[in-house]
Amino acid sequence: MPTQQSTLEGNVGEIFSSIQGEGPLIGRRQIFVRIAGCSLSCSYCDTLGFGKRVGTCRIEHPPASGCFAIIPNPISVKAVKEQIDRLRSPGLHSVSITGGEPLCQHEFVGALADECRSSGMRVYLETNGYSASRFEEIVDVIDFSAIDLKLPSHRACSDSEWPDLIENELACTRISSEKGVYTIVKIVILSGTQASEVEEVCLRLRDIDAFIVLQPASGVQEPKSIDLIHFHEEASRYLGPDKVAVIPQAHKLMGVM
Ligand code: SF4
Repeated sequence: MPTQQSTLEGNVGEIFSSIQGEGPLIGRRQIFVRIAGCSLSCSYCDTLGFGKRVGTCRIEHPPASGCFAIIPNPISVKAVKEQIDRLRSPGLHSVSITGGEPLCQHEFVGALADECRSSGMRVYLETNGYSASRFEEIVDVIDFSAIDLKLPSHRACSDSEWPDLIENELACTRISSEKGVYTIVKIVILSGTQASEVEEVCLRLRDIDAFIVLQPASGVQEPKSIDLIHFHEEASRYLGPDKVAVIPQAHKLMGVM
């Protein structure tokens, strides 16, 4: 008999098995569930095809094969969980719920995370943290959170919307950390990122227990390496050397999704 939670439906872009290419869990095997639709529009976004809801979802099988079946959206929690079970492989670290923006469909995401944990899988949530109230509703079913802090130079939203966005992102970070979730903060560094932007958010993070990743953008917005060194020094000044690292996206180097 399906539970009410498992019949909730969501709009999902893709489900596949790969290796985490970002942050302190780099190199860990994960199943990725990419939620379609996003609340922001960052200038460096590399998942543009999933900025809006999509008509179909592609599902990999067998794991890491690059072969996909296509099914129509929306998809129930139960159906997504069945696909996750088909993709389980030796060495699986966790299920990464990513986007797009998972908080845009937080009830569906919370129910899916709950299902995964009920069968012994840990859940890693990647979010832009645009809604602290939505995050708080699902934080109890998350093991790892990777919260993307947006700087004004990211052009994720209008200048007038940014103060509210950063307050929500910082609130998500605090909630996550206080709930005992392993908390990662990602700050993407672009060629146009200013030291003052990084300094301002690091100052706000200094009493929060989180691991801070400065992630250089690739392509036309790639920053100078000397700037990365300076930003690392600046962030470490507020947060301490053990809590800050410069880590580029490694999945592109590995040639995996
Ligand atoms: S929050 Fe993420 S998915 Fe949304 S536009 Fe920004 S980079 Fe892209």
